[in-house]
Amino acid sequence: MKRIETVIVGGGPAGAAAACGLAALGREVMLIERSCAPHHKVCGEFLSVETQAHLRRLGIDIAALGAVAIERVSVAAGGRMVTAELPFRALSLSRFRLDRALLQCAAERGADVKRGVSVRAAARDRERWTLRCDDGEAIQCRNLVLATGKWGLRGIEDGRDASLVGLKMHFKCPPEMQRALGGLVELSLFDSSYGGLELVEEGVANLALLLPRAVAARIGPGWPALHVHLAVAMPRLAERLHGAEPLWDKPLAVVCPSGGHLHADGGAEAFRVGDRLAHIPPFTGDGLAIALTSAALAVEHIRQGGAPRAYLAAARRVTAAPIRLASVVSALVANRSGRAALMLAAASIPGLIDLIARRTRLPVPSPLPGLRGAPARLAMWQSRR
Ligand SMILES: Cc1cc2nc3c(=O)[nH]c(=O)nc-3n(C[C@H](O)[C@H](O)[C@H](O)COP(=O)(O)OP(=O)(O)OC[C@H]3O[C@@H](n4cnc5c(N)ncnc54)[C@H](O)[C@@H]3O)c2cc1C
Repeated sequence: MKRIETVIVGGGPAGAAAACGLAALGREVMLIERSCAPHHKVCGEFLSVETQAHLRRLGIDIAALGAVAIERVSVAAGGRMVTAELPFRALSLSRFRLDRALLQCAAERGADVKRGVSVRAAARDRERWTLRCDDGEAIQCRNLVLATGKWGLRGIEDGRDASLVGLKMHFKCPPEMQRALGGLVELSLFDSSYGGLELVEEGVANLALLLPRAVAARIGPGWPALHVHLAVAMPRLAERLHGAEPLWDKPLAVVCPSGGHLHADGGAEAFRVGDRLAHIPPFTGDGLAIALTSAALAVEHIRQGGAPRAYLAAARRVTAAPIRLASVVSALVANRSGRAALMLAAASIPGLIDLIARRTRLPVPSPLPGLRGAPARLAMWQSRR
């Protein structure tokens, strides 16, 4: 049986960033990702300022990948629309390009990246984990980093709810739509649902939606049926997409928990990172920041020989406040009267959207001169903005 110091299961941003960090430290690390090749993933593709800081630290040149700037946000609900400047300059880049760059970075740093293999189950016996893969291989490791995103792993469940579904579609935009969307993320709110539209690279627009599963099941697969639903639920969004050419037959889909979720201490554990650690309501556009922040924290704890439990406590301290506020806002806008109250407040209190945008952020890692691409340090999180 193969023995490795650290195995990371899942090659999304959280897993890939953890692999980059450990490999940069010269640690023995294997990353197992079930997909064979880069692919699109359900995401709004909004890169917050914290996400950008982590990516730069890992040596990823986001501009060279084609990211475009997002400086304003508009929020539409119930016939009202409020537009505000974002308190930071966000970027937008497809997950296809981002995830591919992160996995390349991990492999270049020396991580053993295994693609096209799925881990079926994990079991812990004293100090070691044994992983069973679908290619028949069994691997033992001392540290297990669980980075499987929305998917659980047999042997390490956490029973979170899966009452929502996230959808994503890319569109080729006519020139007038490209002009209207330049520098803007458009959020549309409806009953327990939201839609986010923004340009990504090369004039393509990305639509990310969150809907109750029952609603998604009623709508059925395919873009035309979804467009009909949006015309009733989020008319501004449906109007904006008029004339845009969908680039896939049907949207990508993934199940999601409702509201926020932050893993609680459950005894002997793996290092849970990214969505396996926490879920922040996606309207904040900060899920990637949680993925990259938790990966950097896990790397630092593994470097110091720290226990997963100590890592979990540190990760909870950093993520709890933004998740709590985002959950409150998401519960408020889930119904018509809450949305109406929020839209009225946003229209009459200048700075409210700015405040929500700031307070649903994770801390930005402070710059560590000379440490570009080097391991993250816990000190990064000691000073909040
Ligand atoms: C609708 C929606 C919109 C969003 N918009 C934004 C946004 O605009 N900005 C933002 O920052 N965040 C956004 N998020 C959140 C963001 O997409 C996630 O937080 C982020 O993808 C988490 O990264 P991850 O690495 O934890 O998981 P993932 O990116 O899901 O990666 C998990 C990986 O694990 C692999 N895997 C799973 N099981 C196994 C297994 N058994 N064996 C091997 N491999 C396995 C999968 O193939 C996958 O590649 C959004 C989420 C949703 C649902």
